[in-house]
Amino acid sequence: MTQKFDVVVIGAGPGGYVAAIKAAQLGLKTACIEKYQDKEGKVALGGTCLNVGCIPSKALLDSSWKYYEAKEGFAIHGIEAKGVSIDVPAMVARKSNIVKNLTGGVSTLFKANGVTLLEGHGKLLAGKQIEVTGLDGKTQLVQAENVIIASGSKPIDIPPAPVDQDVIVDSTGALEFQSVPKSLGVIGAGVIGLELGSVWARLGAEVTVIEAQDKFLPAADEQIAKEAMKTFTKQGLKIRLGARLTASEVKKKQVTVSFTDADGEQKMTFDKLIVAVGRRPVTTDLLAADSGVTLDERGFIYVDDQCATSVPGVYAVGDVVRGAMLAHKASEEGVMVAERIAGHKAQMNYDLIPSVIYTHPEIAWVGKTEQQLKAEGVAVNVGTFPFAASGRAMAANDTGGMVKVIADANTDRVLGVHVIGPSAAELVQQGAIGMEFGTSAEDLGMMVFSHPTLSEALHEAALAVNGGAIHIANRKKR
Ligand code: FAD
Ligand code: AMP
Repeated sequence: MTQKFDVVVIGAGPGGYVAAIKAAQLGLKTACIEKYQDKEGKVALGGTCLNVGCIPSKALLDSSWKYYEAKEGFAIHGIEAKGVSIDVPAMVARKSNIVKNLTGGVSTLFKANGVTLLEGHGKLLAGKQIEVTGLDGKTQLVQAENVIIASGSKPIDIPPAPVDQDVIVDSTGALEFQSVPKSLGVIGAGVIGLELGSVWARLGAEVTVIEAQDKFLPAADEQIAKEAMKTFTKQGLKIRLGARLTASEVKKKQVTVSFTDADGEQKMTFDKLIVAVGRRPVTTDLLAADSGVTLDERGFIYVDDQCATSVPGVYAVGDVVRGAMLAHKASEEGVMVAERIAGHKAQMNYDLIPSVIYTHPEIAWVGKTEQQLKAEGVAVNVGTFPFAASGRAMAANDTGGMVKVIADANTDRVLGVHVIGPSAAELVQQGAIGMEFGTSAEDLGMMVFSHPTLSEALHEAALAVNGGAIHIANRKKR
């Protein structure tokens, strides 16, 4: 007999599992289909983010940072740490344990909320029927009142560097190295390339990042991107801009890459190469020809601002639809769709999705950049505060970077908060909360911030917008 559900979700990543839990909480009979198998061959929930994305990369970033600090950052505090060494398999195993705990946690949440897990591959047929092909190859049909597609994304392959997950790896392979490569090439200076390059650079690899575009971090505010480029270069990361990969050859466990830049044809040889040139939506064998759901010109599932597809009652969220490929964007879209199915009038504020790059220093921003606002003809006032002037940053010996607050010159409303420096992700979230409530720079400046905190840098940058910073000389006079 065909099982019937109010909501069937395809994919249990941050978009899908959050949508399923929310739908169940709202009293809807909900199933979620997932096929991803872990190394033991068991279905694991959590999608890219928990299994091979956000969480494992942050686990390795945190471990590698501790190692780097122990080696390079302790002496200034008077701490002697001789003979510090790294056991890479132990570090990678710790990462895998965290992943296991978290993916298991999602299973527990499904049980606690009454979400039915259907293990296997889901394919949407006409009339909101879904064919589920189990891991044993058997198929069953389920009938849904509403469908939420959250099939996510996977790494883009480029012909000049075919991934073998040994010498040439994608982001998934780069989380599994069992030793530190002496030399590491990274294709793509995007978020993933910079984060994974950082992990192995901190552990001692000589890292070269090859990036096709001339501009570094084009999505970030230019002042922040410039500071980032300066800092990463000082840290020893070699970033080759305007360099397009054209070919690679693997020989004797090494890879020689060819690329062209302003100086012509170049060649470099590495022990490992990470290909991190972006991600593409997963739609393979997902939609029957008569499902009615359409794709846009870039291959993403076409949706409107409320994540509705071209078929009534069928929605799509997360990396498989337009917009930032970020876990928190996927999850909030999942919540919005579940609430709309339950009859609520939920909306999502796409203007305030924070972006974070978890390098050291961290880079994070929310809202618009100074360049975007100028291009739109918006007159702005800008306040910056360097961590070099923060007592707390000095105490932590972590004084690189700054906070930048951009406000409308006429209304003083904050339109962008950009941070490079310690705890940038957490500081930007404070900006995002303020901006969601329509804060002005003056509002932020009038609030009481604990002393001594890194957050005071946000306070001071907000004060600097109108020439009122206390702990630096103001560029702008009142
Ligand atoms: P996914 O997480 O990709 O999940 C989709 C799921 O659907 C998968 O489990 C897949 O197996 C399943 N699926 C697909 N098709 C079917 C089908 N037909 N039937 C059944 N199941 C199916 N984002 C951040 O916000 N912060 C970070 O720090 C961050 N770090 C990252 C680091 C790395 C190395 C990578 C690769 C990504 C990172 N991301 C980060 C991005 C983040 O992982 C994604 O934006 C997020 O996972 C998208 O969620 P999703 O639910 O749309 O898709
Ligand atoms: P993101 O999309 O943020 O993950 O970043 C991927 C980066 O890879 C982008 O900055 C691209 O410009 C870069 N990229 C894509 N293809 C190539 C290539 N063939 N050689 C070098 N860089 C590339």
